[in-house]
Amino acid sequence: MADKHQKVLAEGEWLFREGDPGDTAFVIENGLLEICREKEGGERERIAQLGPGDLLGEMSLIDQLPRSASAFARLPTRLRVLTRSHFDEKLADADPLLRLLLKMILERYRVAAGGKGKSRAKAKVRPEASSEDRSAVIARIELEQELELALERQEFVLYFQPIVHLSNFTIAGFESLVRWVSPSRGFVPPGDFIPVVEQSHLIHGVGDWIMRKGCEVLGRLDAVQSPGRTDPIFMNVNLSGKQLATPAIFGVIQDSIASSRINPSQLKLEITESLLMNNLDSATELLDKCRALGVRIALDDFGTGYSSLGYLRRLPVHTLKVDRSFVAPVLEDAGSGKILRAISALAHSLGMNLVAEGIETQEQAVALSALGFEYGQGFLFSKAVPEEKARDMLGLEWPWTFERRRIDRRA
Ligand code: C2E
Ligand code: CA
Ligand code: CA
Repeated sequence: MADKHQKVLAEGEWLFREGDPGDTAFVIENGLLEICREKEGGERERIAQLGPGDLLGEMSLIDQLPRSASAFARLPTRLRVLTRSHFDEKLADADPLLRLLLKMILERYRVAAGGKGKSRAKAKVRPEASSEDRSAVIARIELEQELELALERQEFVLYFQPIVHLSNFTIAGFESLVRWVSPSRGFVPPGDFIPVVEQSHLIHGVGDWIMRKGCEVLGRLDAVQSPGRTDPIFMNVNLSGKQLATPAIFGVIQDSIASSRINPSQLKLEITESLLMNNLDSATELLDKCRALGVRIALDDFGTGYSSLGYLRRLPVHTLKVDRSFVAPVLEDAGSGKILRAISALAHSLGMNLVAEGIETQEQAVALSALGFEYGQGFLFSKAVPEEKARDMLGLEWPWTFERRRIDRRA
């Protein structure tokens, strides 16, 4: 019995005719199809014969133009039906450059095939849609190329945001956050370029540089004397999904630790829950190796992703960084307080510690400390600063007056 994803044709039956709207593609499961052009007087010009495993009809599905030829069954034939949504999902996930290339190749093919069939003349590509696509893709390629040069020209800079002990507001460590100082674009925040870097091969060069630089700066900052500090400071370095899926990153981590002479336990890799879930197998292997080396793992933006308790138990996670969206309403909304209390109990029962992200007022810091959060990070303490300022902070007690923000005085 054929279901809605299958189509069965009797010998001689048409699948589609030239000029028909094309909203499905097909894979031949068995049988034989002929693709042809219908000429005046009922004559047929054969273009191809297709058999089991062959795909047909995909052009119209992608460029949404009418069928450029006809197809009929030479033998009884069964087909699997692919709808536009199957393609749209795959296309939406594809790199914009690939999408554009695919469209351009189809355009050229249709132009080359045009003139022969009667529907070709009508089947003009829509220039407005294409030019929009093109300018977006060209802007994206320009950005990728500029980013490639940025790496060569050393335009990336690491900034460091302190992570403090909530019990006494002394600095426990820093999170390294990358910025791009572009000669043409100015100071670019990571949200504007990291997603592009992550979707290209550049993530390896940029990611390796971030890892090496983060460890190198940690080595220097750890040597700074600070009042009342007994423990070595740590450095949190953000990892992207592509890095997690690349085994070579482990060598870079080992090298970075060795050449900066830090203890592996001073390095914390920040990974978001969703990245972890999407790369669970490769990530688990890498994280296990990192754990064996002594490197720590922090789950970033905790609460915004899957929060599956099952995987938390299995993974070598030391720290949960609870997202700002839970931290911000801690004082206003009793529900948030309850969630934070539950997260705190969960983390501690699994032997993990907690960082509250995005603390902006002293009241929030006090409330989170009371909920059992060991560490806090946020604009109350400081935004991310260059290395020299991070060094100055380590030598002083909070509030680091040069960093106090208006937000602090309001609190
Ligand atoms: P994230 O890892 O969650 O980093 C925290 C972001 O929150 C930082 O933005 C930080 O400046 C901001 N933030 C910290 N405290 C507060 C606060 O109290 N209030 C508010 N409103 N925001 C606060 P930033 O530096 O713009 O980074 C944004 C994102 O870019 C990061 O989110 C991370 O996903 C990505 N990113 C930054 N640096 C790197 C990197 O070196 N590697 C990778 N893979 N991603 C990075
Ligand atoms: Ca982070
Ligand atoms: Ca975060």
